Amino acid sequence: MILHVVSVSGGKDSAATLLLAMSRFRRDRVVPIFCDTGNEHEAVYEYLDYLERALDIQIHRLRASFDDEIAAKRMFIARDQRQRRDKSGRRLRWSNKAKRRALAVLHPTGNPFLDLCLWKGRFPSRKAQFCTEELKTKPAVLFQLGLVDQGHTVVSWQGVRRDESPARANALKFERIGPRMFAFRPLVEWSAAQVFDHCAQAGIQPNPLYLQGCSRVGCMPCINVGKDELRQISARWPEHVERIAQWELLVGQACKRGFSTMLSDGHEAADRREIFADLNIYARVEWAKTSRGGKQYDLLADLIEPTACASAYGLCE
Ligand code: SF4
Repeated sequence: MILHVVSVSGGKDSAATLLLAMSRFRRDRVVPIFCDTGNEHEAVYEYLDYLERALDIQIHRLRASFDDEIAAKRMFIARDQRQRRDKSGRRLRWSNKAKRRALAVLHPTGNPFLDLCLWKGRFPSRKAQFCTEELKTKPAVLFQLGLVDQGHTVVSWQGVRRDESPARANALKFERIGPRMFAFRPLVEWSAAQVFDHCAQAGIQPNPLYLQGCSRVGCMPCINVGKDELRQISARWPEHVERIAQWELLVGQACKRGFSTMLSDGHEAADRREIFADLNIYARVEWAKTSRGGKQYDLLADLIEPTACASAYGLCE
C-alpha cells in the first residue's frame, strides 16, 4: 500500500500540506506525524489537538529517546582514566569533581531536547545544529522505515516553500529518497499568503502563535532565534526563558567545563564564569532589549504590550 506520511509541525505550511494530502487521498492512506522536540510552546500541542478534532484524524507523536546514550556516557565518565592531554596541555580525563557533578545530573528526564543536551554535554549551535537531525529527522525517518519494513511504499509530504530561505530555494517538488521512499513537497512554489488562504478556505485556523509575534512555529526558543523574537518571547512567555535557564544549569553540570548556554556566539574570554555571565539566557534577553550595537537600551523595548498582535504575517488585519 502507498502511505502518505505528512510531517506536521504545528505551523501553517504543514497544516496546508496535511489538508492537501487529505483532499487527494483516502484517510487511511494519510499518516500525519509530529516530531516532538520537548522544547515546544504549549500552544503547539493545543493546536495539534485542534487539528485532530477539526480534521478527524490522528497525528502520531514521535519523541526521540537518548536513554541508551546517557547510560553509555555515565559509564564512560565513571571509568575515565585517560592520561593523555589535549593540544593546550590540559588533561583529557574528567576530574573527580567534574565526574561527581556530571553523574549527579546525568539521568534521562524524558524530555528529548534536554536529554539530547545532557548526553552531548552542550546545547546545539548554528555550527553544530545536531538538534534537527536527532530530534526531527531521525525519528521521522525511523518511523517511515518501519512502514517500509511492513511492506508499504512511503511518500513523505513536506511543507517546504522555496521563498522561505536560501537553503530551500532549490527544493525539489518530488524526489526518490530511498527504496520505496519518496519525498513530495507540494508547496514549493507557494507564498506564505497562499498557505494562509488555503487553510482559511478549508476553515482551519492558524496556530495562535502567529498572532502573538512569532514568524515561525517551532522550538521555543530556537537556537537560531533572532533578537526581536527573543525579546517577544521574554515579554510574552517569561516562563520559557525560566525553563531554559534551568536547562542551562543542568546541562552545565553535565559537561566537563561546568557551564553551557543555549544562545552562544563564540565568546573569546578564557574565564568560563565570564562567558556564562555574558551568554546565559537572561543575559541574552537583556541584550535583546538593546538597539543595534547592543550597548544602548532601546527605551521602547520594555513597552512591548504582551497582548498586542505582532504577527509578522499581519494576521489580525
Ligand atoms: S527549531 Fe531550532 S532548536 Fe528546534 S530543532 Fe530546529 S534548529 Fe533546533
